[in-house]
Order: sequence, then C-alpha cells, then structure tokens
Amino acid sequence: MACRILGIPSRRRPQLTPDCYLQMTAEMSTKMKIDQDRSKEDGGLGIKDLATLNKSLMLKHIHKLLRGDRNPWADWIRFWYDGGRADDETPCWRYTKKLIPEYRQITEVELGDGETTSFWHDTWSEAGVLREALPALFSHCLNTDVTVAEVMAAGGLGPTDLQPRLSTPAASELVLLHDALHAIAPQPCPDNRWLKGGAPLADINWDSFAPKKVQVFFWILRHHRTRTRDRLHRRGLLDAPDCPFCPGAPEDEDHLFATCQRLQPLWELLLPEQPPPTSALGAAEAVREAPPPMAPCAAHTAGLAVLWIVWKSRNSMVFNNDAHNTAAIARMVRHHVELWLCRAPRRLDVEPLRLWCSTALLTA
Ligand SMILES: [Zn+2]
Repeated sequence: MACRILGIPSRRRPQLTPDCYLQMTAEMSTKMKIDQDRSKEDGGLGIKDLATLNKSLMLKHIHKLLRGDRNPWADWIRFWYDGGRADDETPCWRYTKKLIPEYRQITEVELGDGETTSFWHDTWSEAGVLREALPALFSHCLNTDVTVAEVMAAGGLGPTDLQPRLSTPAASELVLLHDALHAIAPQPCPDNRWLKGGAPLADINWDSFAPKKVQVFFWILRHHRTRTRDRLHRRGLLDAPDCPFCPGAPEDEDHLFATCQRLQPLWELLLPEQPPPTSALGAAEAVREAPPPMAPCAAHTAGLAVLWIVWKSRNSMVFNNDAHNTAAIARMVRHHVELWLCRAPRRLDVEPLRLWCSTALLTA
C-alpha cells in the first residue's frame, strides 16, 4: 500500500511456472557438473570426468593386452579376435579397438621379441614411427598391420608385402630400411612399453621408502642425465672420459653402476647365481629380483640402496680419496637400508628386507 501511495511499483514475486522449474533444474545441473569436474582446490567437488576416466581405464586394458599380460579379459580378446574366431565385433571391443592407435601414439617400445610391436605404427626405432619416417614406402605397403617379429622373421619386407612396382622414393626408402634392419637383433624377452617422454623402471623409482633425494637421483639416472665423466667429457668439461678406476674405459652410466671392475666382487656377493649386470638399470632390476622374495616396495628399496651407495662410494673415492672395498660398500648399503626401514609403512612386512641385509650383504 505504502509503495502504491509513493508511486513506487511494489515488487512482484515472479510466478513459478513449470517452465521455470525446468530451467532452474537445468542451470543447477550445469553448475553441479562444473563443480564436479573442477578439482577441490578450485572449489569443485573433485569428481573425475567420467568419460576421461573410462578412456584411461580402457587404455590400461589395452596396455595389458599389447604387453602380452595373462588375465582372463586379455586371454578372451586374444582367443576371439586375434584367433579370428568371432563372427562379429562387440560394441565394447569396437570402442577398445578405436583407442589402439591413440595408445600407440602415446607410448614407445623397447624392443624385445617384437611380437606385440606394430612395425609401422609403434615408436620402436630411433627413426620414430616408421609410417611417418618412410611415407613413400608405407604408401606402397599392402599389409600395414604386421608386427616387428613378423618382418624380422621374413628378413624384411618382401614382394608380397608391397605393391608390384615401387616409385623411386619408395625404392630408396626400402634400401634404407633393409640396411637399418640388419643392425637390429630381437631379444628373447617380451617387448617393454612405456609412456613417451617417460622411462622404464618408474615403479622402482617411486614405489619405495628411500628418501626423496635418492628417488630424484634414480630419476636422473633413468633419464640418462647422471653427471658421469663420459657425459662431462662430451660437454667439454673434462679432458678425458676415462673411469678413475679403469684407465682407458669411458665412465658412462652403465660402466659406473654395473660393469666397472671395482664392482665385480659386489655383484658376485649380491647376485651369486647370475652373470653380473651389464647396465645401470639392469643392475637395479637384478637386485630387485634377487632372493629372498619380498614386497615390491621393499625390493625396490633394495635396488635403489645399492645404486645409491655405488654412486656415493664412487664420489667419496674420487673426491675424498677414500678407499671403499666391497665390504665397505655392503656395510654402507646395510646401514642405509636399516635407516630407511623406519620410513616403511606399518602394514608392510619388512622382515624379508632385513633378511636380505643380514644374508646377501654379509661379507667375510
Ligand atoms: Zn671403472
């Protein structure tokens, strides 16, 4: 009434029609969706985008399938689709198959037997994806789904794999390819695959209870950035790349952490049943897999401890003129692992690691 007297129109409440309710619900659900997708730090609910999550899970399945893992799902796919027994494709398999090119694009392969590596579509050689490196030859190819193992077994691409007549660029690329294939020898082990830009042994790197600085040290090693004498020499910072303990032998990562003469007694002690490792990462893997069997986290810690102490003892010998024999290195590994054990999660059975310390590292 007062409003009407003063000439001010009274505020009218909007009529809530069914249309309004519908609009409000739509707005609320849009806002809720945005809040769901946003991370908690950004004020959202932190719920993962289900489409992306689903795609990631499917890529994980594809990884298992192409890596040759044995599990019921992968066995079932191999039986029906690799074996050509299925009459038709299920929607699930069609969706999975659609993701395989994407999976190949984001991964690279360390060649083993080549059984699960696509010759044309995977990144397995220094030339990158061969489909892109040899485009003329690829355009003359009749079967682009061959694996590296199949091509290697046939001794290269034969007349049945290619169009009857090759263009001049394709013929030159074929010569290049066959020359390069001679230098490749498949290994009697499965192919190893990881994300591009990543490096192998990420599990050893991060799933352990070694301190952060040791994990960072191993990460640098995995990415081939450790400051060895060979690396410093290549960068013009040292006159010679020689190992301080083996004159004439360049000190690269594999030499420093595995093949150096001073380490041979250590490998005899730690890995008595097998030949000494030939690479730095091979050494970490060999220690991880050596008996006694233990939880992955504990085994990774043992692998990291050995490489870390090899590095520390090398630096101490080079920079402080200390003398570190195998007994001293073993003692240091034992001491460090015992210190790191207090960081182990309580649920973890660390007794096998303690046993490893008291048996595998015991010197005369
Ligand atoms: Zn050496």
